Amino acid sequence: MSTAADTAVAAPTTYEPVIGLEVHVQLLTATKIFCSCSTRFGAPPNTNVCPVCLGMPGALPVLNRKAVEFATLAAMALNCQINETSIFARKNYFYPDLPKGYQISQYDKPLAEFGYIEVQTLNTGGTEDHREPHKDLPRKKIGITRVHLEEDAGKSLHEGFPDSDEKTAIDLNRTGVPLIEIVSEPDIATPDEAYEYLTRLKEIILYTGVSDCNMEEGSLRCDANVSVRPRGQKELGTKAEIKNVNSFRFIREALIYEIARQVGVIEAGGKIVQETRLYNAYEGKTYSMRSKEQAHDYRYFPEPDLLPLVVDEKWKAEIAKTLPELPEARRARFVREFGVTEYDAQVLTVSKSLADQFEAAAKAAKNPKRVANLVQSELMGRLKAKGVSIEQSPISMKGVAASADLVESGAISGKMLKDLYDLCFERSKDFAVVYDEEGRPQQSSDTSALEKIIDEVVAANPRQLEQYRAGKKTMIGFFVGQVMKASKGQANPQLVNELLTKKLG
Ligand SMILES: [Zn+2]
Repeated sequence: MSTAADTAVAAPTTYEPVIGLEVHVQLLTATKIFCSCSTRFGAPPNTNVCPVCLGMPGALPVLNRKAVEFATLAAMALNCQINETSIFARKNYFYPDLPKGYQISQYDKPLAEFGYIEVQTLNTGGTEDHREPHKDLPRKKIGITRVHLEEDAGKSLHEGFPDSDEKTAIDLNRTGVPLIEIVSEPDIATPDEAYEYLTRLKEIILYTGVSDCNMEEGSLRCDANVSVRPRGQKELGTKAEIKNVNSFRFIREALIYEIARQVGVIEAGGKIVQETRLYNAYEGKTYSMRSKEQAHDYRYFPEPDLLPLVVDEKWKAEIAKTLPELPEARRARFVREFGVTEYDAQVLTVSKSLADQFEAAAKAAKNPKRVANLVQSELMGRLKAKGVSIEQSPISMKGVAASADLVESGAISGKMLKDLYDLCFERSKDFAVVYDEEGRPQQSSDTSALEKIIDEVVAANPRQLEQYRAGKKTMIGFFVGQVMKASKGQANPQLVNELLTKKLG
């Protein structure tokens, strides 16, 4: 009999997982999608509600223009085609936190379709960090089936009240908050690729500014559909849906577990049932929650209280104007313009605000490439050693730019810069502050002062002088080093070199 561990190892060779992801993203509008209630997170329960979002009889929804613009912008950033006309539909189901008994969503005519996200394919064979993109592997497009607009449901609170063991409390503040649902094609081949897809997706959405993608507050939620099939088989296996996993890491873990479970069931002669499963992060296992509904269970029909949504060419063009440069394009440009490595471009574009800071600093500096070089050669290593992200760096991008200018103008030497950076990290202070605290040190370009030091150094090392004069010209390095040391690292090394060469003859 094969054990679970055997099948987990066997899975990659004999079985092929097929994964599709559904991501819900909350849009950052000030008000809800069909009423003027606030969307603010953390308000006292059931205070951001009105007859419309409570689903009172006769209350009519009015579509929020900003929600449409945000959804369209996100869809454009995901390379989707925007449908000029899309239709809202009622998705009927009963749930205690869904007071209307239906959710207004979009069904057969969604806002946008046929998009994609490009991901770096990953080396999953070895023991390398799964997030480290493998440079030689090709990039892959993961299709996006659709992006549609819908309203969120409320929240059931199962804990935190004295009678929580008998009762469930309901908070309807979230009811009617605008969401987009982003549905991928089943193009994702591994849990690592799912992780990469989600990382890129979140990054793109954050760049557009339409959501804060805060997973703790539920602004980004992900469900995964996963099935396995014998490698080479065309027909898809029966899928299970894993619901509401609250981090990308857990999605990856849940998929790894679920793939091995499905392979195990099939290998043992069993059949996969279509169902919804929940992931228990503590145990690292998925559990059956309920049999999966089919689309026809929802009795979708066009929402009679809303007109078809029309995003015409003119409106589309206006929205397109607000589309920022997206992370992928920006990375390529950073590599091109600033000569940074692809890896560093990735780090520098991890958030739009960091990329903006870097670019502003680099462009304001005398030599933008030097700023990029300092980030790579002096900043990254120190951050890594300290185990902090670049966004928590004591030295700001402005600080890097200021230090780059000091080196550029010859005011400080590379050695002095290194020492100042060390002090910044020790004191957790930005460059400008530490530079002031240290009395704004300058490398010495005072020729007469340097000549005095040189005379002393030469006089103190007659043996080395003899060797130099006997033809061992590399001894110059020794003298430069001694002079630098005597000047406490503050001499301009180039000038020292010149003066020494002249002096030694
Ligand atoms: Zn309302």
